[in-house]
Amino acid sequence: MQVNTLILGAGAAGMMCAAQAGPSTLVIDHAKAPGEKIRISGGGRCNFTNMHTDPARFLGANPHFHKSALKRYTQWDFLDLVDRYKIAWHEKTLGQLFCDDKATQIIEMLRAELTKAGAELWLKTSLVDLDHDGTHYKASLDRDGTRHTVTARNLVLATGGKSIPKMGATGLAYDIAKRFGHRLTETRPALVPLTFTDQRFAPLSGVATPVVAQANGTAFEEAMLFTHRGLSGPAVLQISSYWTEGDPVTVNLLPHTDLAQTLKTARTTHGKRNVTTALGDVLPERLVSFLADDLPLDGNVADLSDKRIDDITTRLKHWSLTPSGSEGYRTAEVTLGGISTDRIDSKTMMSRDVPGLYMIGEAVDVTGWLGGYNFQWAWSSGVAAGQAIVASS
Ligand SMILES: Cc1cc2nc3c(=O)[nH]c(=O)nc-3n(C[C@H](O)[C@H](O)[C@H](O)COP(=O)(O)OP(=O)(O)OC[C@H]3O[C@@H](n4cnc5c(N)ncnc54)[C@H](O)[C@@H]3O)c2cc1C
Repeated sequence: MQVNTLILGAGAAGMMCAAQAGPSTLVIDHAKAPGEKIRISGGGRCNFTNMHTDPARFLGANPHFHKSALKRYTQWDFLDLVDRYKIAWHEKTLGQLFCDDKATQIIEMLRAELTKAGAELWLKTSLVDLDHDGTHYKASLDRDGTRHTVTARNLVLATGGKSIPKMGATGLAYDIAKRFGHRLTETRPALVPLTFTDQRFAPLSGVATPVVAQANGTAFEEAMLFTHRGLSGPAVLQISSYWTEGDPVTVNLLPHTDLAQTLKTARTTHGKRNVTTALGDVLPERLVSFLADDLPLDGNVADLSDKRIDDITTRLKHWSLTPSGSEGYRTAEVTLGGISTDRIDSKTMMSRDVPGLYMIGEAVDVTGWLGGYNFQWAWSSGVAAGQAIVASS
């Protein structure tokens, strides 16, 4: 079988690319269904983009690489597509756009676009062998137990990153890119809960509170959730992308309260209240009890000296915690790092060294913040490659 383009991976980026690159495009995936991560994303409602998409909200060794693709296929372009398919959506918070109903609507939309473009999708299909003679790629495929040989002028690597191996994540894109001489940057789990070996927060499991979490000079103001094994919630998932093992995370538990002033005023207005009761006005009670052992927080507000008020304020606004690790790829939403962008053309996503080899989506060293940014990168990079393939045909 001969095709113009063979795409490895029918996830967000691969399907979007096929919708642009077809006809004479074959997309393969070893899974039984396409877009499995889309299906489970956003609690089943898919946070498909973010209104505030901006290159500064992406991490990667080259902070400029992703600008071109994001500029040429924007969040508004994807929203137009969603609207054309009459998929109802809403903004949840911070520009995050979700389906009103089901994430599967996005998968159905991409499948329809792919079919409309004349591309073909083979599921339960794995790559067995791959050759390149300088102009064509020859792939040996196993489609549900049957061997096929496919020759293609273009090969697109869209098999994603390492997160959630249980859902079929493999390092295939990395292996092929490396084989063709591309460098890989260090990879690690990102948008992932952070853990503490002593499980010190187990008594607080389930408590959530708004915080500012900061690591290595970057801060996020969102909710933090205590878990049996450590810390989670959007603030911690976001900061995990900036955190490396051994670094402290500084948490401001009271970002919008002038605690020192509040306690000093309370000394005269509500002096007979327990300190823990007073703090219960501004923090979850279970968290106050937990902190009370450590700080300590005994006695009445009237008995607090200025120095103790300052000590308590410093501890609650600059709580320094050093996680021992993260929950790893088992639960990470994304993989930080990947195929280095240094030998990829940012306009076309094609290799600068190997003609017809394209790399898109999470496999590439571009990682977005939590909140729809990673899908936007998948859409934008997929479109960039798809359009470049059409232009070069
Ligand atoms: C639980 C969870 C929730 C998420 N929620 C959101 C969200 O709401 N918003 C957001 O922006 N991002 C979210 N993400 C991140 C987002 O899913 C990814 O960034 C995005 O799917 C990456 O797209 P991709 O096409 O590069 O890779 P993927 O979507 O992972 O697609 C890769 C495809 O390649 C296939 N594949 C892998 N290896 C092989 C192989 N060896 N042979 C054949 N096929 C192979 C896989 O089966 C898969 O279909 C979430 C991630 C997770 C895990």
